[in-house]
Amino acid sequence: MPDPLPPPFSPPYAPDDATIAGRLRHDARLGAEAEARVDRTATRLIEAIRANDDPLGGVEDMLREFALSTKEGLALMVLAEALLRVPDARTADQFIEDKLGQGDFVNHETKSSAFLVNASAWALGVSARVIQPGETPQGTIGRLTKRLGAPAVRAATRQAMRLMGSHFVLGETIEAALARAQSHASRGSRYSFDMLGEGARTADDASRYFESYARAIEAIGKAAGNHPLPDRPGISVKLSALHPRFEAVSHARVMNELVPQLIDLARRAKAYDLNFTVDAEEADRLELSLDVIAAAFADPSLAGWNGFGLAIQAYQKRATAVIDYVDALTRALDRRMMVRLVKGAYWDTELKRAQERGLPDYPVFTRKAMTDLNYVACARKLLALRPRLFPQFATHNALTVATILELSGDPTSFEFQRLHGMGEALYAQLGQDRPEIAHRTYAPVGSHRDLLAYLVRRLLENGANSSFVALAADNRVSITDLLRRPAEIIGHDGNASHAGIPLPVDLYRPQRANSHGIELGERAGLRALTSAIAAARKTAPGTAATSTTEQADAAVAAARQGFRAWNSTPAAQRAAILDKAADLLEQRRAHFLALLQGEGGKTIDDALSEVREAIDFCRYYAALGQKLFGKGETMPGPTGESNVLELHGRGAFVAISPWNFPLAIFLGQVTAALMAGNAVIAKPAEQTPRIAAEAVALLHQAGVPQTALHLVQGDGAVGAALVKHPAIAGVVFTGSTEVARSINRTLAAKDGPIVPLIAETGGINAMIVDATALPEQVADDVVTSAFRSAGQRCSALRLLFVQDDVADRMIEMIAGAARELKIGDPADVSTHIGPVIDAEAKQRLDAHIARMKQQARVHLAGEAPAGTFVAPHIFELSAASELREEVFGPIMCIRDRREEVFGPILHVVRYRAERLGDVLAAIEATGFGLTLGIHSRIDDTIEQVIDRLQVGNIYVNRNMIGAVVGVQPFGGHGLSGTGPKAGGPHYLTRFATEQTITINTAAAGGNAALMAGVE
Ligand SMILES: Cc1cc2nc3c(=O)[nH]c(=O)nc-3n(C[C@H](O)[C@H](O)[C@H](O)COP(=O)(O)OP(=O)(O)OC[C@H]3O[C@@H](n4cnc5c(N)ncnc54)[C@H](O)[C@@H]3O)c2cc1C
Repeated sequence: MPDPLPPPFSPPYAPDDATIAGRLRHDARLGAEAEARVDRTATRLIEAIRANDDPLGGVEDMLREFALSTKEGLALMVLAEALLRVPDARTADQFIEDKLGQGDFVNHETKSSAFLVNASAWALGVSARVIQPGETPQGTIGRLTKRLGAPAVRAATRQAMRLMGSHFVLGETIEAALARAQSHASRGSRYSFDMLGEGARTADDASRYFESYARAIEAIGKAAGNHPLPDRPGISVKLSALHPRFEAVSHARVMNELVPQLIDLARRAKAYDLNFTVDAEEADRLELSLDVIAAAFADPSLAGWNGFGLAIQAYQKRATAVIDYVDALTRALDRRMMVRLVKGAYWDTELKRAQERGLPDYPVFTRKAMTDLNYVACARKLLALRPRLFPQFATHNALTVATILELSGDPTSFEFQRLHGMGEALYAQLGQDRPEIAHRTYAPVGSHRDLLAYLVRRLLENGANSSFVALAADNRVSITDLLRRPAEIIGHDGNASHAGIPLPVDLYRPQRANSHGIELGERAGLRALTSAIAAARKTAPGTAATSTTEQADAAVAAARQGFRAWNSTPAAQRAAILDKAADLLEQRRAHFLALLQGEGGKTIDDALSEVREAIDFCRYYAALGQKLFGKGETMPGPTGESNVLELHGRGAFVAISPWNFPLAIFLGQVTAALMAGNAVIAKPAEQTPRIAAEAVALLHQAGVPQTALHLVQGDGAVGAALVKHPAIAGVVFTGSTEVARSINRTLAAKDGPIVPLIAETGGINAMIVDATALPEQVADDVVTSAFRSAGQRCSALRLLFVQDDVADRMIEMIAGAARELKIGDPADVSTHIGPVIDAEAKQRLDAHIARMKQQARVHLAGEAPAGTFVAPHIFELSAASELREEVFGPIMCIRDRREEVFGPILHVVRYRAERLGDVLAAIEATGFGLTLGIHSRIDDTIEQVIDRLQVGNIYVNRNMIGAVVGVQPFGGHGLSGTGPKAGGPHYLTRFATEQTITINTAAAGGNAALMAGVE
């Protein structure tokens, strides 16, 4: 009777390193004799690597020649990443010049005898010699054409890149790869073919990848020969290539659509009895991957086949749990599985993601020795589970290999794996010493364009200081050092995490704690959160009453009264109250999430980011305020006198906030004004009164006196009454430029003191994408920037300029990716786009869409469900000579009001590379300057754009929304706002008055201090 199927995989996502270290160090022990044998084997392998004189050269030789710690190495990496995808000569020339100018390729003396390295170095040197640093592209091209011809330089550099790339892929097509593999077959190598490419962004991409896998399986199968498994070739597939939304929040859809596809491919592999391995990807996709794998693997049509497999990453803290899960699965189904153990390829990405998400800890280890230790522990576990599991140890580390050899016993019941172009010397030596042990080569197949991205990842991974390949390539590192055991390097459990890598929560220490986030890819956490939100929804507050003008006046009067006491409350105490508010927000997160979803129409991701931003504002201003408003600043001056500059509140400050960030912007304004010592009259948007009321209640609960903070609800008329009030000491406003102007005029028209206006207004935010950009990255960033939050962010992308040489492909991918977004109820975790704020907003947007459909080329016209939903739209405008009128006119004029289109509508314009200057001039001419995106690999271009445009927030090669408090202080120039930036170091002082106190300390009887100090 087989065991029951295991429950879905759900162990703790990011447990504490020290606890794991205790277990691993204990398990890692070998006897003294065994350790001595490991030393001997590893030494022999390392000596073989060092003695290697491969006439072609592999990654190791490339690293020896162009280390990533050198300028040449880095320039080469960027060049390799992008050059082959640049279609136009002009951009290619600019790019080549930019990168070759960054390193000293001319005087680079080749150390290697490897052909590949030499040829690359030579081609780069020749190219660099013709390009003199400091020349303008035009000048260079001119000179080149005369001397050598730009096409020749371009060709030489491209050839160098191709040469590098071709060495690390087995073939551009599966047929070519098979032919090359067959020529090695005599050496007894096994292969696993990998079809290169980035993950699918569109449904078309996914079906293309499916077809390419299916065709490859057919071709591999036909050429597979007669040996039984495991001695048969295989294929590795990436789930992210087979589905455009391979993400935890789209779980149901992924299970419905992807599982049948995976079963289909697996059946084809079964027909030829191949090894079929599902690659391991990012940590947040692990649970989802295992659900998909389990569902496919359990399909009865796959019974009786032992080739199905998956990869497990030892750098993940959940690796042993994955082995337990797979073991349980195979026992329940009474099947066998092949399991590839790797260390993991996305380490840097994992760290960044965990930090951005504010997770309690990392899902991966932060010390390499812990990964190595875990690798051995996992290897032991896998070896013990033979023959149900067939272990495949993928590593290029001689010590890891030697340790496994010591643990493994029966040599036919496992295999080693390596990447094509790597570990050749190591496995050649092993093949000589232990011919009975098999090894399989993971062989990438694909076009030159795709392979370079792959190569770059390999170079990056292996160029790291801690990488075994890099250390083994460095003769200065002794073999004794290479043989140091991971357990010894860790020493004790307290050393298990990297001292230089703070936990995500400590990222901003000592200034403040980071706000806590959750990983949506962890089902336990997500489930707990959604149940808490559902429970909170039941207790959501009712409607909030609108204030009258009299009540508004009364609030100002009351605030004036409350001001004195609050202003004289010590800054440390005010800060403590804000810190308390942050803690309360964290405790009552579910309550605010429910409100943000209910009243603000926010998706779970958006709502979570907003609560986190609100928490960050409280803590950031508290930390900053303590410094600024604590002790006064002593100024220099003559003896006998003390001079101190102090900051204080101004009085009753009016804070008027918008509906699009009803918690974060609301609290950001209010807490800044409070921290500076002001009493505050807060007027939220009339669309989101309940969130504001709850936020104010929370601040009062945290300790802000009732007299210091007053809430006034209502529409623009109430706001106008507050602004007009003669007794207010300042206004902080976020909203449209029109309303900001009107506030400014009202303030200016009043007699009495001139008070400050801090206004953050809108923008016509543009992104510029040139031909060196990576389409997949652009698609992700454009979709996020233009459509997330239904485009209702001030920072959202409205106008995309794409270089015409790549525009067709880029626009198609962006539109295809946008088509995959789910529009609907924001309370459903799988929703990507919720409603727009109200019927009026929808009406305005619909009218704009209708007009655009007449005037522009439609690339995407999504369909929205009934209600206040607006689907993503993409319109292409023609870039006529009068760019401003043609392009910016339609975007800014809705119903004859100069107003931004505040919704999920993207406008695209193509530009010719030589017209970039016109594009910049046109953006500048709008007068707005809030956010700007640039996607380019050419540093010169990036600099040119940054120098030219006065824009508040510029984002290079990433999306352009989601500014983080204290990290990307936010706010624009020109028509986009007055500054200072919210969440930045200069914000609080604008809410303050300054006072200098000068005391003549010598007045009573002379300068005693001076006299006492003189000899
Ligand atoms: C056949 C094959 C298939 C592969 N398939 C996959 C796959 O499906 N999914 C995948 O993710 N990778 C895959 N890889 C890539 C693999 O993860 C790396 O090549 C491997 O990690 C390199 O390990 P090593 O033992 O050769 O080198 P080593 O130099 O011993 O180890 C390097 C690895 O250590 C880890 N590391 C580095 N620094 C730290 C640190 N500070 N803290 C914690 N860990 C650290 C990283 O995982 C890094 O890659 C595959 C590799 C091979 C050979």
